[in-house]
Amino acid sequence: MDLKSGYPYWAISNGLMHAFPPLQRDLQCDVLVIGGGITGALIADHLHHHGHDVAVVEQRDIGWGSTAASTALLQYEIDTPLLELTRRHGLEQALLAYRSCAEAVVALQHLATRLRDIGFQRNDSLYFASRRRDLKQLIAEYELRHQHGLPVRWLDAAGVHAEYGFTAPGAIVSSLAARVDPYRMTYRLLMRLCRRGGQVYDRTCVTGLEVGSRQVRARTDAGAVIRCKQLVVAAGYASQHWIRQNVARNRSSYALVTDPLPDELLGPLQRTLLWETARPYLYLRATDDQRLLIGGEDDAIDVPARRDRRVQHKAHKLVTKTSHLFPWLPLQPAFAWAGTFAETDDGLPFFGAHPQWGPRVQFAMAYGGNGITYSMLGAGLVRAAIERRPHPLARLFSFQRLG
Ligand SMILES: Cc1cc2nc3c(=O)[nH]c(=O)nc-3n(C[C@H](O)[C@H](O)[C@H](O)COP(=O)(O)OP(=O)(O)OC[C@H]3O[C@@H](n4cnc5c(N)ncnc54)[C@H](O)[C@@H]3O)c2cc1C
Repeated sequence: MDLKSGYPYWAISNGLMHAFPPLQRDLQCDVLVIGGGITGALIADHLHHHGHDVAVVEQRDIGWGSTAASTALLQYEIDTPLLELTRRHGLEQALLAYRSCAEAVVALQHLATRLRDIGFQRNDSLYFASRRRDLKQLIAEYELRHQHGLPVRWLDAAGVHAEYGFTAPGAIVSSLAARVDPYRMTYRLLMRLCRRGGQVYDRTCVTGLEVGSRQVRARTDAGAVIRCKQLVVAAGYASQHWIRQNVARNRSSYALVTDPLPDELLGPLQRTLLWETARPYLYLRATDDQRLLIGGEDDAIDVPARRDRRVQHKAHKLVTKTSHLFPWLPLQPAFAWAGTFAETDDGLPFFGAHPQWGPRVQFAMAYGGNGITYSMLGAGLVRAAIERRPHPLARLFSFQRLG
């Protein structure tokens, strides 16, 4: 599956950080994780830390799926506003999702502190009204979040201008957000896993699965057989290939990174993630080396050849939109790329067993704009399922909600 076009910044700036071997013999382990992206890395790390014997297999190089294309804004606020999520799942479940994501951002911070040097930084996030007619809904969203203790404050148009220097009818500022280098984090997690006795193989593609009552057998493209008690499918957007039920829509999403900008021009953008109420939304964040990472311009469907052709045009549109907000910024794109991006109906991910495969196979489908935050939560969820313990998010993030 072709997941990205162009040159994702993280893969270029970091290069191939470590070469893991391909698997060339049969293997036995407690838990096999398919997929060496950020989701597989977080899950494998968490399981290994809690005593499970884990192996990870990746068909390409580590981090080379959608993880390399990710702009990696870490947010508790998901693409579906709290108001809308409440309408779909009730207030209790909607708040559970938002609060769990808030905890996940803090948990990612703790993990980043231990891993060191992965481009992690705590930021604010600014969610602004794109048009005056979005204001009423945005104020209602702010009030609901504020009433339930989420870390928000309201800025009117004058406040947005005074603090950020651009024009918008109003905005929610959240003091809980962060950014990370997702590719570096993935490598660091998996390199640490190997040092601690876990196993990681790249250039190893799982081509077939047999699920029995006592074990799962996974066959690789090189003919090796991996026997495990539990299988975790963290295969990113390719996970959908393993289940007949269609659970998400694939879109193409575009991003670019600019040349470095001077401190005084970036101002508050150095420590703030920005996004807006329009759909698809424009969003941006800074990097550790003072660049702006700008994303958006999503296509409703993902056609890799068309996505390849559109990267430069979309990058131009992203620059134009950003320049409209911040005309004083000299935005020179250094790299532009695009990636597959899957969206579920309610913006929530799927973690857990699917009836087609039974309880020995756990899916980890961190779909949606908050994929990395979801993956952090998913690590705890998958572990609970493997250890046959209940988890508060198990139902909300399960396939059961599809009915
Ligand atoms: C442009 C863009 C911007 C984004 N911005 C954000 C953001 O700001 N914040 C955020 O939280 N999320 C964001 N996301 C989403 C986030 O990037 C994803 O949620 C995350 O990368 C998913 O990681 P993953 O490990 O599940 O998938 P992947 O990184 O795709 O990893 C899955 C891996 O599984 C491997 N694989 C698949 N099938 C097999 C097989 N049969 N055998 C072996 N290996 C296999 C693939 O090669 C791949 O490397 C963005 C995504 C895109 C594309």
